[in-house]
Amino acid sequence: MATVPTIRLNNGVEIPQLGFGVYQVEPENTVEAVRTALEVGYRHIDTAEMYGNEKEVGQAIRESGIDPSEVFVTSKLNNGFHRRDDALRAFDQTMTDLGLEQLDLFLIHWPLPTIDVDYVETWKAMEEIYAGGRCRAIGVSNFNPHHLRRLFSETDVRPAVNQIEVHPYLANDEVRAFDADHEIVTEAWSPIAQGKVLDDPAITAIAETLGRTPAQVVLRWHVQRGDVVFPKSVTRKRVEENFALFDFELDEGQMATISGLDRGERTGPDPDTFDYVPR
Ligand code: NAD
Repeated sequence: MATVPTIRLNNGVEIPQLGFGVYQVEPENTVEAVRTALEVGYRHIDTAEMYGNEKEVGQAIRESGIDPSEVFVTSKLNNGFHRRDDALRAFDQTMTDLGLEQLDLFLIHWPLPTIDVDYVETWKAMEEIYAGGRCRAIGVSNFNPHHLRRLFSETDVRPAVNQIEVHPYLANDEVRAFDADHEIVTEAWSPIAQGKVLDDPAITAIAETLGRTPAQVVLRWHVQRGDVVFPKSVTRKRVEENFALFDFELDEGQMATISGLDRGERTGPDPDTFDYVPR
């Protein structure tokens, strides 16, 4: 079984660079999907309160027989819980639902800069959660540099991670460079743009040259750029395929060709305007 490299976060915690994402995996399919991923060798699961499948993620880990401390688990604070007291309660509920002693990484899912709760208040609640010791690292998701700068000037703990949309059609290099300059690890969500980049002729040509699949080529591009990735699939063959990234390499020209596909195209919402709060 291939060994997945780890990346050291700014507080010393090690995160496996490749994980398994469970966004849009229905709760009734989640135990099976996570079980498959663990069997294949994944030791990093990315979930969120918003995905509605934390209970099933926890169940799959417990039933796998693998020591839970060997599986890196991330969850995220949902948009309706940005006030301090709500955030503390939401974290407790996440821990109850996952049924784990410790969470590896807890993120603010979206900054929601236009709502009536300031994300600086939310980050201070994240700091309290971190100080409580049940969470090994805290971070953010979908934060732009100007959001991060406010955290730097008004709070104490630097986010360990910024999870943002990144794929060949949205290289997001400005945010990635800012993260890197401030010891924040970038995690690339929707790494294959939910499948949209897989038919791109530049990508299929590289895949053909290497005898690999387009998904493997794109995921390998992320790995070589140094980001953390967690592709999602409920199909065993694809789960295996997406894990087999460490026995081949893209050369500089192939990396540059894929990077050249950037067209600033999002598949998801814009973090500066997204304001969805579930009621
Ligand atoms: P993704 O880019 O991982 O694409 C997933 C889709 O691509 C699957 O539904 C499947 O249809 C297809 N696919 C997967 N592997 C394939 C393969 N080998 N060949 C062909 N098709 C394949 O998209 P995603 O699920 O949106 O993103 C991955 C993870 O990122 C999520 O599960 C979640 O954990 C995280 N995420 C986070 C945020 C955020 O706001 N923080 C937003 C979206 C996703």
